[in-house]
Amino acid sequence: MNNSSEHISLWEKQSFLTRDIIIVGAGITGLSAAATLKENAPNLKVTVLERGILPSGASTKNAGFACFGSVSELLNDIETLGKDGMLSLVEKRWDGLQKTCQRLGRSVIDIQTKSGYELVFSEPSNFLNRMDEVNTILKPFFQNEVFRKTDDRISDFGFGQTMHLIENHLEGQLDTGKLVAALWKYCSEIGVQIHTGCEVEKVIEEENQVLIQCRDLTFSCNKVGICTNAFTNKLLSKNEDLSPGRGIVMSIVPKNPLRFEGTFHYEEGYYYFRDYYGKLLFGGGRNVDLEEETTTDFGINQQIKEKLLSDLSTIILPNQAYEIEMEWSGIMAFGKNKSPIVKKTSDRMAIGVRLGGMGVAIGSLVGEEVAELLF
Ligand SMILES: Cc1cc2nc3c(=O)[nH]c(=O)nc-3n(C[C@H](O)[C@H](O)[C@H](O)COP(=O)(O)OP(=O)(O)OC[C@H]3O[C@@H](n4cnc5c(N)ncnc54)[C@H](O)[C@@H]3O)c2cc1C
Repeated sequence: MNNSSEHISLWEKQSFLTRDIIIVGAGITGLSAAATLKENAPNLKVTVLERGILPSGASTKNAGFACFGSVSELLNDIETLGKDGMLSLVEKRWDGLQKTCQRLGRSVIDIQTKSGYELVFSEPSNFLNRMDEVNTILKPFFQNEVFRKTDDRISDFGFGQTMHLIENHLEGQLDTGKLVAALWKYCSEIGVQIHTGCEVEKVIEEENQVLIQCRDLTFSCNKVGICTNAFTNKLLSKNEDLSPGRGIVMSIVPKNPLRFEGTFHYEEGYYYFRDYYGKLLFGGGRNVDLEEETTTDFGINQQIKEKLLSDLSTIILPNQAYEIEMEWSGIMAFGKNKSPIVKKTSDRMAIGVRLGGMGVAIGSLVGEEVAELLF
């Protein structure tokens, strides 16, 4: 069946299927793009199409770090993007977080700035000097030193194998479910139509309109924004430089009270953990089996899970009892560097994709940029 069949009424065609702008993907980026469009042009008819019943990519599956990069990650960004590129990415992540807080309210998304820490296990010859280098690059933006050595807390926190602890007092954590739910509610209140269970199969650009094929329906619109992150290439006529990266998160209930609060990372952000109301959220380890994790399929890689559990009992909760409450996976998108791809692919189409491992921070800004490209 399609729209020419008799299952579509005149009313449905006018009020649901014929739109000014359609955004594909209801993650942080897509919802932020839709919100920006309506904020700036309240009369625009905007629809978001989401394939899942819930958002089904990364936005509700991450660990909820409100972060902009650890020292080792930022050093890596200097390698791929240069100092200015690294600074610009940090600024965007920071501004994106502020934008999300302004739009939704800090308490609504349960953002808490409890500090973030990087665990360092060996004595890299110049790591601490390079920390100073990163501080110097960031200083014009933050005015103050961002990273400092807090080795005295290692024993308070009870970590094993840890030689140094680098604190970032600006890093926080949030509730990613509350964030997406609030963004969703906000979009609905300002008049965005959101349809779930609508997997877009094809985007057809015609001279005067764009047709969006979705199961047995065809939507038409003037312009389309693609915010499907890791799942983007199958919708484009020309592939972008992006590959999927699966990530796993476990919710751990320790038998004894946790001795630390905050967000923690190690090995260039490949591993991350945080407290969540007495529980521990722990994830990462993609680098253990990068080939297998380059997938858009959800699932738990047992080799990675074993590595996480081994780190749990040697580094994070040495010799302590715990229970695994839940485990899940989400799909990110990566490329040759960590900058998102935000661009027009034609007069009628813009994309905002490849948000990497810090899309919670940068998502609202990328959404805003996509919206600007569609005006
Ligand atoms: C395990 C894990 C941990 C992470 N931890 C953090 C963290 O602590 N901090 C942080 O900043 N970032 C983190 N991230 C990254 C962050 O979650 C992502 O960068 C961000 O959510 C990307 O948002 P998005 O809206 O661009 O993409 P997504 O959230 O993936 O949204 C894309 C949406 O498009 C939909 N879609 C795809 N194809 C179609 C189609 N054909 N038709 C209709 N809909 C479609 C998908 O179902 C999905 O809902 C983590 C990610 C994962 C997976």
